[in-house]
Amino acid sequence: MSIQKLSSVLATTYENFPKGRFITLVVLRTTHSETIFRTEGSGEPLCSEFVQAGVSNDNIIQRLVMTKRKQVAPERRYGREHLRAHELLYTNIKDGSLCSLNTNSPCEMCVDCFLYGFAAGGGGAQKSRIWTEDAFSILPASDVVGDRTINAIYENGTMRDEKGNASTALNTSEYIKPGVHFLDVVTLKDVTADELRYIIGNILFTSRYGAVSSRVGRMENQILGAFGSITELPSSLELVQATYDVLGKPLEHPLNINQLSTACKQVIANWQNKRGVSLQLSESELTDLITDVETHWSEAERDNFLKRLSQSYEPFRQVAAEKKKAKGKGKNTPVEVES
Ligand SMILES: [Zn+2]
Repeated sequence: MSIQKLSSVLATTYENFPKGRFITLVVLRTTHSETIFRTEGSGEPLCSEFVQAGVSNDNIIQRLVMTKRKQVAPERRYGREHLRAHELLYTNIKDGSLCSLNTNSPCEMCVDCFLYGFAAGGGGAQKSRIWTEDAFSILPASDVVGDRTINAIYENGTMRDEKGNASTALNTSEYIKPGVHFLDVVTLKDVTADELRYIIGNILFTSRYGAVSSRVGRMENQILGAFGSITELPSSLELVQATYDVLGKPLEHPLNINQLSTACKQVIANWQNKRGVSLQLSESELTDLITDVETHWSEAERDNFLKRLSQSYEPFRQVAAEKKKAKGKGKNTPVEVES
């Protein structure tokens, strides 16, 4: 089992105190349909930043940005759907509501709360052990953004009224084209083997990101590398810049994904020599790791796997429940939900 190869940087059990163990995943995210990452609401432009094109290429280009939140929120929701289906979400002690994202009452007891963290209104807090950063597109925004104008349609079903006047443009909407690549570095702090499987499953099985995701936002994630270390590895920005240098010029959308992965792997192969890095999984070890994750998430294994993971926090739940009981509050129990 290749997950054993990572044992020096895996926690044997969940603990409240950090111990300086880092696992880094290098993720290639590719759009498979039109995708929209906006800061807030419609009408806002797509998220982008001006940055240096490469590490050695010092031209300034505008790159699209997939923010931390746009990555993590759908991935958490994916995992939580399964926690819900296997009845592993808890209720919040104070108001009795089922754990949910983006509310003031996380349950503080479920796998998601222990792993991705929470900030509770009541003073408690759990830091996330999944550190993400903004991911950048390889190519400049000008190459990978399309826009379309949505015209008003008259009741006769055309864009002209009965006098033949053209309708006025209602809205110009920018979108990220299909086949656009983002490189991303995800850092995991002091996670156990089962937590690692849970996180990788969330990354690999989440397929929709960004706005109005029932119609757009299809993305495919691939893990190109996994490292163990005692510190953080280079950032997503450094990775995208170094890969851009290796790819050379001129680059055109759409990029060949095989050339891109080869270039990226060439860059990260050098990370082995970076300060604090203890190991990199080989290509075959990485394939084994992905197979291991898929097996644990399979129909036959998933129930066992998620329940075992959830069970691993039990001692900490009891401590938390005792504390709350001492303050005159009730004990948390898992909630029955229809699956
Ligand atoms: Zn929770």
